[in-house]
Amino acid sequence: MFSNKDKARFANVETPFYYYDLDLLQKTLSSCANAAKVYNFHVHYAMKANFNPAVLEKIKDTGFGADCVSGGEVTRAVAVGFNHQQIVFAGVGKSDKEINDALDQDIFCFNVESIQELEVIDELAAKKGKKAKVAIRINPNVDAHTHHNITTGLDENKFGINSWDLPSCAETLKTAVNLEFIGIHFHIGSQITNLDVYKNLCIRVNEFATWFEERGFAIKVLNVGGGLGIDYHNPDQQIPDFEAYFKIFNDFLEVRTNQEVHFELGRALVGQCSSLISKVLYVKNGKKKNFIILDAGMTELMRPALYQAYHKIENISRAEEDHNTKYDVVGPICESTDCFGKEVELPETSRGDLIALRSTGAYGEVMASHYNLRENVNVLLSE
Ligand SMILES: *Cc1c(COP(=O)(O)O)cnc(C)c1O
Repeated sequence: MFSNKDKARFANVETPFYYYDLDLLQKTLSSCANAAKVYNFHVHYAMKANFNPAVLEKIKDTGFGADCVSGGEVTRAVAVGFNHQQIVFAGVGKSDKEINDALDQDIFCFNVESIQELEVIDELAAKKGKKAKVAIRINPNVDAHTHHNITTGLDENKFGINSWDLPSCAETLKTAVNLEFIGIHFHIGSQITNLDVYKNLCIRVNEFATWFEERGFAIKVLNVGGGLGIDYHNPDQQIPDFEAYFKIFNDFLEVRTNQEVHFELGRALVGQCSSLISKVLYVKNGKKKNFIILDAGMTELMRPALYQAYHKIENISRAEEDHNTKYDVVGPICESTDCFGKEVELPETSRGDLIALRSTGAYGEVMASHYNLRENVNVLLSE
């Protein structure tokens, strides 16, 4: 929903551009922080979802930590001013350089995804005379019931350490003197809307925690990852139900005294605070199909091409009229997957109309590319 003031501003900015509603972002962050505080849960923001400077600033100011998946993200988190002891570093393929840089930054914890990686971190920490804090990312084989391209916690996925490797993982942890084992980590997928999935995850987390405790390991941190979805069909519904989400974990996770519970939310925090605004270049009316050709394409918003993601499409130049025509809404890029929606019902549309692709705050601007030598996408912040 855009105000007339928003629309007046849109008319003066070169399209395509990402519009950020910082007020909505603030409300979402506060809602999450308040809901987490009830149970003393810790939230790390999954930075890969959006690293626009204005967005990061607000998240840091909320007091959340940073969940990073590359050396570049660790460096950025430090530069932006996130507390080093609130930075965690996950990822299946951390390079030696990335590990060394993170050791130099004294980050809170590495979320380790293989036994070989444990050995490498131990060796690199030894060279620096340091002890690296590590959590083991376990693949719990829990189905996230989301799109298969964004499922990460099944046996066939590349992420985490599988349960059958845990005995040898425990051996490594016992002998590696430059590692400090702090806990266990999970992240089973993204855009999870069925909260029962998290109930199943809790049950598995409890089992794994017990497994480690029975072998003499103390678990200080239970990190259950992120993945909470947003409602792409109702972009104006806006703020996810963080209370219901955290309550599931409070109800089903067995938390020992002095144990911390960590979360890594990305999409749920930033997804609804942005729209990609684009201009209609051409309308092609065919016999079987009508096409709207936008000046934004998969180079600005890749999710539809990458994993058939749905974004609500609105003609904001003609908001009041009936939705009476069906269009395929496509971008200008030379790829057939450069399509934002098929058979989308919209008002009769003309060249020059502004089209909003809604709910683009997560995995939108950050995935923009220069394919076809496209220019950087513009950004407009709310006032
Ligand atoms: C991407 C990612 C997240 C965040 O996922 P969302 O679906 O955006 O909440 C959390 N943890 C890890 C390890 C990730 O890779």
